[in-house]
Amino acid sequence: MQSAGCRLCKIAREARGESTDGLADETHVHINSAGCEGKATTVMAAHHSIWRHLYDSMHAAQKPKSKLKFVTLDKESNMSMLWRREEFPRICSKKELAEKAQDIEVTMPVKQSQETRYNLDPGSFFENRF
Ligand SMILES: [Zn+2]
Repeated sequence: MQSAGCRLCKIAREARGESTDGLADETHVHINSAGCEGKATTVMAAHHSIWRHLYDSMHAAQKPKSKLKFVTLDKESNMSMLWRREEFPRICSKKELAEKAQDIEVTMPVKQSQETRYNLDPGSFFENRF
């Protein structure tokens, strides 16, 4: 049976006053992903919580001689935050990193759930990630 579209996405779009055209199918995978507009905040919070737990566990198990350094152990950091730290610009400039990441990302297909945002402004779609 064909889905009429995800009810959670529909509610989120209606709350934002956006069109409900092209809703994703309401599948188990969809509603448990950050791609579901109605569940994205919850799914991302769970994701971040799990990563924090993993970072803490890996850090606790780290041997004293290890050369690994956990750069986001105390808090989440995006690329802009990391590149404010002294050691990162020594590796490469943030601009070089963004250009290389964009070179790779443009080869990846855009998800159907992100097409509207991508088509609106393809340039900022990639720039906003950093
Ligand atoms: Zn959804």
